[in-house]
Amino acid sequence: MAPDDRETFRENTMRIAAGIIFAGTVSLLTSSAAWSQTPPAAKSAAPGAPQAAAAPQAAPAPAPVAVKQPPQPARAACTNPNALGVGRTVEIDTTGGPGFGFEHFKTLDFLRDKEVVLTFDDGPWPVNTPAVLKALAEECTTGIFFTIGKHATYYPEILKQVYAAGHTVGTHTWSHQALVNKKLNEEQRKEEIEKGFAAVKWALGGVSPAPFFRFPALQHPPEMVTYLGERNIAMFSCDLDSFDFKARNAQQVIDTVMRKVDKLGKGIILMHDFHKHTGEAVPELLKRLKAGGYKVVAMRAKEPVQVIAKYEEEVIKDLKLPTVSSRPVSSVVTTVSE
Ligand SMILES: [Zn+2]
Repeated sequence: MAPDDRETFRENTMRIAAGIIFAGTVSLLTSSAAWSQTPPAAKSAAPGAPQAAAAPQAAPAPAPVAVKQPPQPARAACTNPNALGVGRTVEIDTTGGPGFGFEHFKTLDFLRDKEVVLTFDDGPWPVNTPAVLKALAEECTTGIFFTIGKHATYYPEILKQVYAAGHTVGTHTWSHQALVNKKLNEEQRKEEIEKGFAAVKWALGGVSPAPFFRFPALQHPPEMVTYLGERNIAMFSCDLDSFDFKARNAQQVIDTVMRKVDKLGKGIILMHDFHKHTGEAVPELLKRLKAGGYKVVAMRAKEPVQVIAKYEEEVIKDLKLPTVSSRPVSSVVTTVSE
């Protein structure tokens, strides 16, 4: 989708508070690489943010069946003594579809004062995603990549680099359609979600990503929130939006993020590895976060997502479609002389 379309779309739409389902248990476990921690601090809700709607009670989610696959490669050993690094790694049990990010989900306040989670949407994309990867590697830190299924099929090698570098890979639909769009029926909405996961699994050479999902434009149709709960997929809104897709240059991205994070004191930061200015901003932004005393929290899934075979078949079918044109023969070949 063209950036302009998305921008217009995002500006013209209201973000909808979502129901939250917690049929299962969410556990946040501190694991390795936990050095230099700070005590938790109370956080106030973002002013003006809509309250989450009363959650429809879902039937208890079925216990997830473990997906067997090799463990993800670890991040490379850090050779930069002044790096931002990773302050803490948390493991997320996604049973029941927990929601994260105070813009919409207000239950799980797990970040401590001065802790941030870096998230990057809409990739993988040439130049910009590699620029983000390089900056993260130089600062020995990490983020979550909410990838678009179609983009993953265009650039599987870039997505493989994201995974191989030890970052968390989540998804962001198959084709970035707004799932609140009334023109879509329920099956089409599910297909957007499920084909996104299936395409990312395909792009990673059969490795299932994390059951981490972000709705396009942070618009949460309640029935899809319920569906994700039943699928044991965690939903990610954000605590602060960089609005990098509107920024005129890298400096604006840096200034917006630092102003907002200094105000909130912590949070899940929404950026786009799809955008040029973000790729350019991240090196300096990471230095500013380090100088400001912030610590990056790595979020890992306890289990990979269970991809549904039917949608894997659909993605593979799509990949074999003619890539250039689906115009009818009559519009392509015209007899001009006989
Ligand atoms: Zn997006």
